[in-house]
Amino acid sequence: MPALIIDGRAAREAYMPALQARIKALIAPPTLAIIQVGDRPDSTAFIKAKSAFAVKVGAKTRHIHLSEDASQADVIKSVQECNASHDIHGIIVQLPLPITIDQDAVIEAIDPRKDADGLTALNVKHWLEGREDAIMPATARGVKELLEHYKLSLFGKHVVVVGRSMLVGKPLAALALNENATVTICHSRTADLAQETKKADVLIVAAGRPALIGPGHVHEGAVVIDVGINDAKREKLEEEIPGRKLVGDVDFAAVLPALGDAGAITPVPGGVGPMTVLGLIENLVDLCARV
Ligand code: NDP
Repeated sequence: MPALIIDGRAAREAYMPALQARIKALIAPPTLAIIQVGDRPDSTAFIKAKSAFAVKVGAKTRHIHLSEDASQADVIKSVQECNASHDIHGIIVQLPLPITIDQDAVIEAIDPRKDADGLTALNVKHWLEGREDAIMPATARGVKELLEHYKLSLFGKHVVVVGRSMLVGKPLAALALNENATVTICHSRTADLAQETKKADVLIVAAGRPALIGPGHVHEGAVVIDVGINDAKREKLEEEIPGRKLVGDVDFAAVLPALGDAGAITPVPGGVGPMTVLGLIENLVDLCARV
């Protein structure tokens, strides 16, 4: 028997009724402001996916689209207007921002009570501490709920995370640590990646490098969570863009047989991506209780 293929779309469907019920119980639909600077097609596609899912579950998004040459002060002004608006319950700044803008300064301008990506200093402290009420970045939340849906516990496991970004790798490592896993974090300077990843009971890959992980990087029975979203031309991409062939960081066809019948693996697309969007809207609903 081949390894279990973890279906993120089906898992998301299963979480939707509870989310819809929470939204229905609110006085007004929760509204997420999405601030975009410039016209990166991957960012635009990802914003569309977030907005479409929000509408599907009864939430709203407000797309605030600034031009590529907007200044840092312009972006911060938009954030502050969203902070002050009673009609907006959550805010995200679509990353990456143009390199002329200090990303940290913009993120820190977000009121932590409206920080739907969990990236302001206060929220980072909370998810590092493993607080129950922490707003954690949406991908980590999505992976947590995906594993829970499949009853795949991290407790006592050796979890290896490849990638250490603030948006993806570090929150995933914190999640695993807070679930009482023993955690190894790998990155571009890791001397022997395969030697580390082969030790993983659960391998979570978020590097943005197609086919980084092959059959020689896993052991039989491992659970492999592929966060990477890349197009076949080896550019890094966000979520599903119609007409483009997306691949993860794991060579799915080659790794699947190496995992054996006790293993499990997420596909790309259809694995972590849909759960990230779910996690974002769940964060938004959690924030509604705070403003
Ligand atoms: P970043 O580029 O910010 O970080 C990539 C990380 O991977 C870095 O820590 C880097 O190491 C590490 N890395 C790069 N190359 C290697 C290598 N050869 N060996 C080991 N480690 C390596 O990307 P993000 O964290 O923002 O995103 C990672 C991936 O996840 C991307 O494909 C992105 O599109 C995808 N993504 C998917 C989402 C989803 O919902 N499925 C949501 C968000 C992102 P170093 O720190 O040393 O540079």
